[in-house]
Amino acid sequence: MLDIKNLHASIEDKKILRGLNLSIGQGEVHAIMGPNGSGKSTLASVLAGREDYRVEQGSVDWDGQDLLAMPAEERARAGLFLAFQYPVEIPGVSNAYFLKAAVNAVRRHRGLPELDAMDFIKRVKSEMKAVDMREEFLYRSVNEGFSGGEKKRNEVLQMALLEPRLAILDETDSGLDIDALRIVADGVNRLRSPERSLIVITHYQRLLDYIVPDFVHVLAHGRIVRSGGRELALELEERGYGWIEEEVAAAA
Ligand code: ADP
Ligand code: MG
Ligand code: MG
Repeated sequence: MLDIKNLHASIEDKKILRGLNLSIGQGEVHAIMGPNGSGKSTLASVLAGREDYRVEQGSVDWDGQDLLAMPAEERARAGLFLAFQYPVEIPGVSNAYFLKAAVNAVRRHRGLPELDAMDFIKRVKSEMKAVDMREEFLYRSVNEGFSGGEKKRNEVLQMALLEPRLAILDETDSGLDIDALRIVADGVNRLRSPERSLIVITHYQRLLDYIVPDFVHVLAHGRIVRSGGRELALELEERGYGWIEEEVAAAA
């Protein structure tokens, strides 16, 4: 459903992605691991359509559509969800208002009737229960003053409500504690379905103890240099990334 071919991208004239290839099938969970600075967050940002990145070459086909030609909001409405490492705070906008607007934008795009206030509240309350979030968070400004764990819950809540076709979670470097790890993992596991694809970007093999991926990829020097099953994550945990970098350098 997602087919990335020979993707080259840069930020501030710095070349980051250098010919990345990756295919994600419907219903699959893919983990992307890799050393710091290898381009994992860049890949997530390019897929989400963030403006500061320039794509120089390559293509991304999403169910027959040219993803790179779609504006970022259009990607989101069409069911792409990106959970960021550092969720944005939106002072003055209540979480309930924000979530309802986002859910209804997606529903309009899918040709579904919008949820009215009553239906939305019912829906959101049941999802909040699932992530163990108190109701007061509906009436607070989006992420403002939320603790790390509360932001994580809110992110998982957003994801559950939006029912994305493709969700990308970038969890790198964020120092997830064990609680946050569980929140993310439970959320992801509840969302696993044959219609939905998930990309989990992480430094931590530990997260993959809870979210068992179908495929594991290693990103290094702006490319996917190794792909395998979950045993690859275990091998990385044991041996680090050095051996892969050496192999890639030797083959170059
Ligand atoms: P990862 O997520 O794998 O740790 P990133 O995609 O965040 O890697 O970063 C890849 C490279 O791009 C790094 O060398 C980083 O320093 C650089 N980079 C990221 N953002 C910027 C930016 N705004 N300006 C310049 N360089 C950047
Ligand atoms: Mg990083
Ligand atoms: Mg990163």
